[in-house]
Amino acid sequence: MLSIKDLYVSVEGMEILKGINLEVKPGEVHAIMGPNGSGKSTLANVLAGKEEYEVTSGSVLFDGEDLLEKAPEDRAKDGLFLSFQYPVEIPGVPMVNFLKSAVNEHRKHKGEKELTAGEFLKLMREKMDMVDMHPNLTNRSVNEGFSGGEKKKNEIFQMALLEPRLAILDETDSGLDIDALKTVANGVNALRSPERSAIVVTHYQRLLDYIVPDFVHILYKGKIVKTAGKELALELEEKGYDWIKTDN
Ligand code: ADP
Ligand code: MG
Ligand code: MG
Repeated sequence: MLSIKDLYVSVEGMEILKGINLEVKPGEVHAIMGPNGSGKSTLANVLAGKEEYEVTSGSVLFDGEDLLEKAPEDRAKDGLFLSFQYPVEIPGVPMVNFLKSAVNEHRKHKGEKELTAGEFLKLMREKMDMVDMHPNLTNRSVNEGFSGGEKKKNEIFQMALLEPRLAILDETDSGLDIDALKTVANGVNALRSPERSAIVVTHYQRLLDYIVPDFVHILYKGKIVKTAGKELALELEEKGYDWIKTDN
């Protein structure tokens, strides 16, 4: 599904990613962990297509097609979901209208029938229940005046609606309380199926108490220095990152 080969990425002339190799197959959940400044967000951002990240060599294929050539919105239509891909704020545009257009655009792209207003509302209620989101939130303009926890719920709610085939979530290192962690985990777990995959970037092991990954990778100084199963996250919880630093 996703195949990253020998990827080198620079930001402002500084080489941040130094030869990343990663294969994600359908149905798999991969966790990417590592100390601050390792390049985790850089990897997520380059997959999202953020401009300031320059790929200096290597390749990324999604369904066999060159992902790096595509505009961010086309990556999304092809079934990729990246946290914070959607506008932070569109004053005056209620989220419901915005999301209905987004969902229907994706459906059209997949050759599926567009949802009527009634069908969309039904789907929306179902997904709101899943993330335990207050109905009032959807009447507000997109992300306008949302608290940190509400933004997180909103993001996972958008993901649940769009049902991406590959979700890439970059979880910030701070500010996620247990409630928000559970929201993220519920969203990812609800999407799990033999066809869907996820890459969860996280600094903390705690999130992986709720999302049990198939693989855990440690990114350090721009390289994946270790890959193992879910037990690696527990090992990190116990030992921290210092042993990675002395070994590499
Ligand atoms: P992590 O998510 O693992 O904490 P990041 O990918 O955010 O690591 O950062 C890796 C390195 O790249 C850091 O040294 C950071 O300062 C640098 N970096 C990342 N994004 C930018 C940017 N947009 N502009 C300048 N430097 C950046
Ligand atoms: Mg960081
Ligand atoms: Mg980061």
